[in-house]
Amino acid sequence: MQYSLNVENIRADFPIFQNNPDLIFLDNASTTQKPQKVLDTLTDYYENYNSNIHRGIYTIAEKATAAYEDTRDKTTSFIGAEDRRSIVFTRGTTESINLVAYSWGQNLKPGDEVLITEMEHHSNIIPWQLICEKTGASLKYIPICEDGTLDLSNSDTYFTEKTRIVCVIHQSNVFGTVNPITDIVKQAHDVGALVLVDGAQSVPHHRVNVSQLGCDFFAFSGHKMMGPTGVGVLYAKPELLEEMNPFLGGGEMIREVSMEKSTWNDIPWKFEAGTPNIAQVIGLGAAIDYLNKIGIQSISDYEKELHNYGKEKLQNIPGLSIYGDAKKKGAVISFNIENIHPHDVAHILDTSGIAIRAGHHCAQPIMRKLGVTATNRASFYIYNTFAEIDNLIEGLTKTVDLFS
Ligand code: PMP
Repeated sequence: MQYSLNVENIRADFPIFQNNPDLIFLDNASTTQKPQKVLDTLTDYYENYNSNIHRGIYTIAEKATAAYEDTRDKTTSFIGAEDRRSIVFTRGTTESINLVAYSWGQNLKPGDEVLITEMEHHSNIIPWQLICEKTGASLKYIPICEDGTLDLSNSDTYFTEKTRIVCVIHQSNVFGTVNPITDIVKQAHDVGALVLVDGAQSVPHHRVNVSQLGCDFFAFSGHKMMGPTGVGVLYAKPELLEEMNPFLGGGEMIREVSMEKSTWNDIPWKFEAGTPNIAQVIGLGAAIDYLNKIGIQSISDYEKELHNYGKEKLQNIPGLSIYGDAKKKGAVISFNIENIHPHDVAHILDTSGIAIRAGHHCAQPIMRKLGVTATNRASFYIYNTFAEIDNLIEGLTKTVDLFS
């Protein structure tokens, strides 16, 4: 298989592959490896200008503040936002969604509906269950079809004047399906509802432009895009952030504090209470630089090749079935092998250094729909190779032989 992108050079940027020469890492939907540049950026902050931000007037504090705020600018242009005030740093997708459910969701009332889908990760289900329980609003689900796409055929019955917000996953972490967000945004806006997109699996792999998507909120995590753990982003239209009550209270998010009442800082800092994850935010900036250097389109194109190659080879394994067959799909393949528990598969592959995921992938409603308790999942990134897929196939063939 030929591809113009130099994957060997890319792999050389990732110390984990030098330190674990036998590692075949195919669990990128869970988290991703970090290039040296990101690791150096973290160390540089701690070794050379570690200080708190937005408060010190000395040199290193100003440097830390500038580096932190620089990531806000990089993030703004990386996702095509129009206004840097739209970018709130959080701990990750989970916290970003909880922020919206808690702060925006406070205004829900009985009779209102929150519309999500059967394809959601638990982090886009539970916060809505919690806020619906608290406010008396109802939670509705758009169903999924056998091929792992959303069943939007009866959408008029889901998108109604009662719908206040539609929360939808951009790329499924189980099927890889890329959902038609612009259509969903149109239908939601037509009935006066807002849209929150869970972009944890899309931003690392495809060019995302939130302005073109037209969504109101968009959440993603740094660690799934070669950045550090503990940092994520909430994009929100500024007028919504202005209206919303704070999520967490404390330092940094205030303007004036009196014994009786306080006023809030400007957005986005109104939503960044306390000392934030300074190093991680600065590290996320380095990850964005790295992704931009390779080019998101090249990443997307290469992953498509990997996916097609992997899918074709996997289909030849006896007893193996793949879940999800959407036309628009990312490089994630969920599968099961007849009569072999996914944990056994993953365990046997691990003995050859191959890391895949086995479990419910934090998407138990999907598992129930598929009638399984777990699946295997191989998910690819820019540093994976066709040879690694051959190794996966070899490992799976051995597994099937062992159980036959
Ligand atoms: N949504 C999706 C689609 C995901 O794949 C994940 C992570 N598996 C999350 C949300 C949660 O992300 P985090 O754990 O980084 O908050």
